[in-house]
This record gives sequence, C-alpha cells and structure tokens, in this order.
Amino acid sequence: MHQIKQLSVRAEHIAYEIRKDSHLSKIIQILETGQCLARFGYKAPETNYTLSRNCLLLEHRVIPPSLRPAILADLHAAHIGIVKMKGLARSFVFWPGIDADIEGIARACTECGKHAHAPPKYREHH
Ligand SMILES: [Zn+2]
Repeated sequence: MHQIKQLSVRAEHIAYEIRKDSHLSKIIQILETGQCLARFGYKAPETNYTLSRNCLLLEHRVIPPSLRPAILADLHAAHIGIVKMKGLARSFVFWPGIDADIEGIARACTECGKHAHAPPKYREHH
C-alpha cells in the first residue's frame, strides 16, 4: 500500500476517479453488494477484482482510464525502459492493457530505447 505514495496521484484521487468511471464504478457496485462479477458477464482477470478502502484492487490498485496517462507519466519519468517499467507497474498498479500502454510510451522514446539494448550499469562507459 505504501508504494503508491511514490506516485503523484493519490489514493483518494484514484478512488474518486474510479467512482466517476462508468465501467469501474459498476464493478465496485457489484462488489459492494456482495455479488459475483462472473454473473454479470465479467471474465478473468476482472472477476478477481476486490474492494479495499474505496480502491479497486486486482492484487494491486486498479487505475481508472482518466488517471492512466498520469500514472504512465510517473512510470516513464526515470526512462527506465519497457521491462523495468512493466516490473514497476506490476508491483502496485493494474489496468487492462497496461503492458501495451507501457510498450507504446517506451517505444516512442529514444531514451528508453537505449535501455533496451544496454544495461544501465554500462551506460556511462559509452
Ligand atoms: Zn523514456
């Protein structure tokens, strides 16, 4: 839970935006009434969503569409490359298609592209 504090987007803000998102707020509603997501046509991994302190979790915090660009910007801030960005994301956030979003942002970046070929520890020697 504490890891999310490294992000510029606060948990309260995530919870607020989730309620505003039609898709995610419906999932929350189903969970709050103690019903099974599979019964509403949801499939894995979404059927594994849980609710904690007003935030939707799928092992990690589920980020509503409105906040995804901000989270991606945070993940990308240090230009750590695709693999590390995915690893970092996996440790605390989730949304459907997050891997593709990370690949898109890193592939468009020359700085991250360097990391794809050279391990960071050798960078200074080039
Ligand atoms: Zn980059």
